[in-house]
Amino acid sequence: PAPAADAPDLAALLPRLRARSEALRRESAAERAGRLQRLHQWISQNRAAVQQALHQDFGKPATETDVTELYATQAEIRHAIRHLKRWMAPKRVSTPLALLGTTSWVQYEPKGVALIMAPWNYPFYLAVGPLASALAAGNCCVLKPSELTPAVSALLARLVREVFDPAEVVVVEGGKDAATALLAQPFDHIFFTGSPQVGKVVMRAAAEHLASVTLELGGKSPAIVDATADLRDAAEKLVWGKCVNAGQTCVAPDYLLVHESVQAPLIEEIRGVLRRFYDAEGAGVAASSSFARIVNGQHFQRLAGLLEDAQRRGATVALGGGVDQSQCFIEPTVLTDVAPDSGVLQEEIFGPLLPVVPFRTLQEAADFVNARPRPLALYVFARSPEAQRYVLGRVPAGGACLNDTIIHLGHLELPFGGAGNSGIGRAHGHYGFLAFSNEKAVLRQRVGQTGIKLFYPPYTPKVQRV
Ligand code: NAD
Repeated sequence: PAPAADAPDLAALLPRLRARSEALRRESAAERAGRLQRLHQWISQNRAAVQQALHQDFGKPATETDVTELYATQAEIRHAIRHLKRWMAPKRVSTPLALLGTTSWVQYEPKGVALIMAPWNYPFYLAVGPLASALAAGNCCVLKPSELTPAVSALLARLVREVFDPAEVVVVEGGKDAATALLAQPFDHIFFTGSPQVGKVVMRAAAEHLASVTLELGGKSPAIVDATADLRDAAEKLVWGKCVNAGQTCVAPDYLLVHESVQAPLIEEIRGVLRRFYDAEGAGVAASSSFARIVNGQHFQRLAGLLEDAQRRGATVALGGGVDQSQCFIEPTVLTDVAPDSGVLQEEIFGPLLPVVPFRTLQEAADFVNARPRPLALYVFARSPEAQRYVLGRVPAGGACLNDTIIHLGHLELPFGGAGNSGIGRAHGHYGFLAFSNEKAVLRQRVGQTGIKLFYPPYTPKVQRV
């Protein structure tokens, strides 16, 4: 497809980055770390600007920006700086008997020029985190922020202009047209974070150039609350996971499967937590400065529609239910008696609505999850180790967290990614470095020697003699 009229000259951009990527290939760990240091320093000096941009885009509270955007991003960068030398070092592998006398290792080389496409929900972290991995691995990059968070998109463009050589890292702003034009270019790797629907578009485009892909997608992440759970503890962690960023989190607990014997007391605990977190003064959640807004009118309409649809199909609003279009505000809402064909149990919710589905046995809960596309995250609240093991052993998912929500994604020694519909490939820490690296397999033979000589043609008496 032809590039959009306002798109930069991509045909000239790619050769420029590719030419520089050859030089980056030969850089030392110290040189790569220098680039990461500059990035880290810019973030430290521009914290207020990042907070402001996120507040402007969807009313995100500054403390949430500190934890989920700034801290998360800087931790990723520091981790890469700390481990870069070890990650880059060739890894010796052992020699099998049949290849005695040879030496072998894996040598890590940058893939070359990478495209990073970011979503709007954590628009800073999900752009700069992968950028740190790509730079650690020695790549040149094009970064395409989401058009739905324009203030952060403009800030990312400024960051890249101020920190990087334009022959190494470039931001291309814009929406679908810009993305389509970029996807037509021959990148070596595409790191995409977004919806499964657009993930398929990205993978089709990558196939044209046989570019490798990392697809960090979404879906419905269940939280299973067993009868042995500590309900107060579970309620707090579930409310935080569901309400941080107003539920617009890829790993937010999407729906709740709760043992029927503890459904009512769990909902009461959730009521108490919501009051403590967002309504201590009794003025309503809308008055709280600790709760973000929905990103735009379209997503607000989508969520309000899901709520209406669930109620039309017989759901009860157990908690919350308030909406205010003028503010793109959706109150944290717990729904019970939800019909299985309701939208809230069919599509990813991506907002502060929490449908609750009771179960009698853990098998029933596991079957419910497994009847749907593979989740990105799986949450289990249970004191019983058997219950934890049961669910972990039966429910495939990209990641899992026992007795908490979301925080597994902040552990930089754990791989982060999806399974099936929730994604392909892994991000974070060493896994992020590997996503942007080619693992070159090297075997060194001794000059004049080879065991395989025994099997050179002609295949007649010589081989039979062996
Ligand atoms: P999205 O798929 O709509 O957009 C992501 C990116 O793709 C944006 O940069 C956008 O401009 C671009 N894009 C949109 N339509 C396109 C098209 N037709 N062709 C090419 N490019 C296109 O996703 P979103 O709404 O920004 O983000 C929400 C989704 O992302 C949710 O599904 C969520 O679960 C998922 N997500 C996943 C992770 C993860 O790490 N796995 C993190 C955050 C969000």
